[in-house]
Formats: sequence, structure tokens, C-alpha cells
Amino acid sequence: MSSSEPARSDPPGAKAIAPSRVSDVVVVGAGAIGLTAAIALARKGFSVVLIGSADARANGRTLALFDGSVSFLRSVGVWPHLAPLAAPLATIRIIDDTGSLFRPPPVAFHAREIGLEAFGFNIENDALVSALAEATRQIPGLALIECQATAFDFTGPSATVTVDDGSVVSAQLIVAADGRRSPARAAAGISVRERVNEQTALTTILAHDQPHRDVSTELHTREGPFTLVPLAAGREAPHRSSLVWMMAAPQAGRRRALNDQALSREIERQAHSMLGAMRVEGPVGLFPIASATAARLSAPRLVLIGDAAHVFPPIGAQGLNLGLRDVAHLLDCLAAARSRARDLGGPELRSAYESSRRADILLRGASVEALNRSLLSDLLPMDVLRGAGLLALSVVGPLRRAVMREGVASARFAP
Ligand SMILES: Cc1cc2nc3c(=O)[nH]c(=O)nc-3n(C[C@H](O)[C@H](O)[C@H](O)COP(=O)(O)OP(=O)(O)OC[C@H]3O[C@@H](n4cnc5c(N)ncnc54)[C@H](O)[C@@H]3O)c2cc1C
Repeated sequence: MSSSEPARSDPPGAKAIAPSRVSDVVVVGAGAIGLTAAIALARKGFSVVLIGSADARANGRTLALFDGSVSFLRSVGVWPHLAPLAAPLATIRIIDDTGSLFRPPPVAFHAREIGLEAFGFNIENDALVSALAEATRQIPGLALIECQATAFDFTGPSATVTVDDGSVVSAQLIVAADGRRSPARAAAGISVRERVNEQTALTTILAHDQPHRDVSTELHTREGPFTLVPLAAGREAPHRSSLVWMMAAPQAGRRRALNDQALSREIERQAHSMLGAMRVEGPVGLFPIASATAARLSAPRLVLIGDAAHVFPPIGAQGLNLGLRDVAHLLDCLAAARSRARDLGGPELRSAYESSRRADILLRGASVEALNRSLLSDLLPMDVLRGAGLLALSVVGPLRRAVMREGVASARFAP
């Protein structure tokens, strides 16, 4: 903030920001990615302002966090609060339920094959966001403005963000973690390649009769993937799982309108009763599915992370895990820029960040899209290709292990 800016009154929950000061970084957006970035950057000694209000309302949605993401959250100090609420994913099973002529046998990946007890952990989204939000209040060097950013200016020697309480904050670098519609990205004129695929994900939390034994099961159906992911025991339900069920939007609307008993019956039928009788236990959420990739990951004094940079269908639990890798790489790039006394929002930083992230994002996006499209197609060549891929994964040991290691790829963080 410059001394010529109008005085502002702090909104509830905001910490005072020193006047006349240009912070190192302003993070915009208090979703899981923005919160984690703000915590990690402040813990690395950068001065950070976080603009946004954390939304920790339950929506029946959970997040499968792979081993690398869990290590990262542990290293930024939040994992001990989350561990008691998280369920390990020891086995991931994929079952072709498309009715295709070329139907491969089920494939099961076991974490112990690559020397891990679990590929990762599954946790409710609201638990993750509220633990991260709580952590942001404890960290020196992190100022929190629980408001919306309304305007951005990237043209000066530092960037400025105007907030809806009337304040203006300045920083060498703006980190946009403001989600798939990213106002910061739009203000910088970065275009997005977007594909709306007319599917919707129905999410909920289920109680069931049989234990899940830490096994996550993905049924590939012609409607889209139907995925049951283990959850930790609840107060009244010892056996619980979360559901992500992708389907055409009208079907999702119809199922959302069912009462809990009727929806439970449809879910159990699709699950072939593999976990016994099922009961919808949590709220039911609907998430329209889209894919979007930003044409660039940066602009002068701006970088994009998380869903502001890339959005994928929720297949194979890629979105948040990829976003956490954005954060880890951004940290490395910023630490390198600081050690060489470079401008934190300058071309060197931007180019290092772009080149460290581009390939990972393109590769994940392409594989998720290809798998989703192959499921929706009823063309035999597609079925053969998908079936052959799954068959190869089930019988070729080195390929299986390579895929598993790649799947849990580490988000690095040196505290
Ligand atoms: C059904 C479903 C299941 C999923 N399951 C998984 C999974 O198992 N594993 C996985 O890795 N990923 C999963 N994902 C993807 C994952 O949820 C997202 O990638 C991740 O939550 C994105 O986090 P984010 O913080 O980048 O964005 P968001 O959560 O969208 O947060 C953006 C934040 O920015 C705020 N914001 C926007 N504009 C402004 C502004 N002007 N000023 C201030 N704040 C602003 C918003 O209010 C919001 O709080 C799933 C997604 C879906 C839909």
C-alpha cells in the first residue's frame, strides 16, 4: 500500500497490514490452494497478504490427496489436524462396467507394491478448508483480508489489488488462486481453452454395511465413472465412503431430486451392493464438469495456481494434487529469485514457473480427458484401446509400478 492510499478499516478477522508497504506476495482466493500457498509462502519468510473468505460448508465432496500432497501438507504444519479425519487409500481398484465386448478384468493397484502403506488419504473438503483457514490465523508474516478482490492493476512497478472494503494492497507478485473463473486471470487478459462436456458430478457421503478395507473402487460406466472412496468412521456410522458419480446433467438433476432412500437404492444398485446396504449420510452436491487450461500461467506480476490455471473432470483425483504441485514449484521459483536478489514478479521468475509447470499440467489434462472421452464413446476401437491399456496395467509389473509412482508424485517442500 502506498501512503497516498485512503485509510481503510479492517474487516472482521483481518490482521492489520503495515501502511506504505509493498508485500512480497498477495494471494487472491481462500480455497484449499490459496490457503496452502499463503501458509507455505509465509512459512518460507515471504511477506504475504491473503485476500478471500474461506468457504468451509459441507457439500458432500471429499478430496483424495496423494502421498506427495500429504507430505506437503505435513511440511506446512496442517496435517496433524487432518490425519484423524482422513482415511488411507491402500488399494485402488478399477472395474470396467461399460458392458463392452472387449471388457478387461478388474485391475487393482496396491500401495505396498511401491513400498507405501497408502497411496494417500481421503478427507472431507470442508474439514480441509477449515483446518487450513485456522492455520492462516496463526502465522506471523501472513495478513488476512476476508473480502473480495474487485480490481487489479499490473502496470506499475508493483501490482495493486483493490478490495471491496475499499482498501488497496500492493505486492511484487500477485498469485491468483481465485478458482476456475479467476477474475485476476481475466484482468491480465490471459485467455482460457475451455471445454464444457455436459456432464455433472453428483457427490455425497455414504454409510454402508460392509467395511471398505481402505479400497477405493472406480467403476467405469457408459454414464461416466462411479467412484467410491473410503472415509474415516463417523460418530454413528463405522463404515463410510464418499461418492463421485459422473453422469449427464439431466440424470444428475433427476437423482438430486430423489429422497435419500430412493437415491441410496440407486447408488447401491450401481455399486452392485459391493459394500452391502447403503445409506446417503451427507448433503448431496452437484458439480457441472468442465475442462479449462489457461493459455499462459503468468503475466507481468501475476502467476496462476490451482483451478485458476487448470480445471479437469474429477477422474483420478488430479485437480487439487496438481494445484499443490503448482504451490510447491512456485515456492522453489520464488526462493531462487530471492536468493539471487531478483524481482519476485519479474520475467525470470515467471519464465521459471511456466517451464516448471507446463508439461505436468498438459500431460495430466490430456490423460484425464482421453480416459473420460473413451468411456463415453461406444465405438469398439475406443473400447479395445481402453481395455488393452487396463489389461497391460494389470499384467505388466514394471508398467504398473511406474504408473503408481507417477500417480503419487511428490509435491516437494523444503521447510
Ligand atoms: C466433484 C469433485 C471431486 C473432486 N475430487 C478431487 C480429489 O479427490 N482430489 C483432487 O486432487 N482434486 C479433486 N477435485 C478437484 C479439486 O476440488 C479442485 O481442483 C480444487 O478444490 C481447486 O482448489 P482452488 O483453491 O484452486 O479453487 P477453489 O476451491 O475454486 O477456490 C477459489 C477461491 O477463490 C475465491 N475467489 C474467487 N474470486 C475471488 C475474488 N475476486 N476475491 C477473492 N476471492 C475470490 C472463491 O470464493 C474460492 O474460495 C474434485 C473436484 C470436483 C468438482
